[in-house]
Amino acid sequence: MRVRQRRRNRATGTVVEVVDATDATEPFDPADGGRWATVCVDHGGVAQHPTLALARSWAADPTGWCDDCRHGRPTINERCLGLPAGAGR
Ligand SMILES: [Zn+2]
Repeated sequence: MRVRQRRRNRATGTVVEVVDATDATEPFDPADGGRWATVCVDHGGVAQHPTLALARSWAADPTGWCDDCRHGRPTINERCLGLPAGAGR
């Protein structure tokens, strides 16, 4: 995975990455909205952008493109930790 930027957002507490969608290891198709993708690692939210500058700009505020960040929902990790033993089956 070619990560160009990885930062924890101060407002949401989630980790946000900027990745190159042309990297063969990425599951994103550049034709779907741009070569660059912002990824909310803690929620799995994704948005694609045509330029790296735009991606970096959007990465600063995941509440603009990650629904779970916007609604202050718990992260994937928090949800798993909250499951009673055996409830994840
Ligand atoms: Zn998020």
